[in-house]
Amino acid sequence: MVLWLDSAHAGSSPIPRSRLPNLDNPYCDIATYLLPDFSEEAISMQDRNGRPVIVISSRLLANDPAYGHFLLAHECCHHTLGHVRRFAGLGQLGPQPFYYIRPALRNMELDADTCAVRMLKETHEPDAIEAGRLKMLSFGTRPTGAYYPTGIERADNIAKHAVDQD
Ligand SMILES: [Zn+2]
Repeated sequence: MVLWLDSAHAGSSPIPRSRLPNLDNPYCDIATYLLPDFSEEAISMQDRNGRPVIVISSRLLANDPAYGHFLLAHECCHHTLGHVRRFAGLGQLGPQPFYYIRPALRNMELDADTCAVRMLKETHEPDAIEAGRLKMLSFGTRPTGAYYPTGIERADNIAKHAVDQD
């Protein structure tokens, strides 16, 4: 859900990459790591060598596997749609991204959701799609993150693509 695009930060982050348990991500072959007691739900980033990495909260995945799968697919999409690569060179893009990419962030979230729904249709996981929709709906008219679309916008977008025949 949270898109963390900062390769410089990733390089200096306290995440002990080599000691984190790996997860066999069913949606893409991007290195995916589990982190307990993670303050975010999941992040997509490049490591200091420019390799794409996904980190997901192991607690979230254990407590809510259906939403966890939605999130894994969503994070894969941030990578496969080129979102991470697109902004990796811009430096610090943490919780206060530069004003000029804010509109892009909004569209990237919707595009990643759409792509995740398509993946989860292919893997026949309607429960994961519905878990994603309900999670977004729980935000209501509030944004789902800094400069992100509102919960209702994302829930509607997920519902629309869940019934698409494309
Ligand atoms: Zn996202």
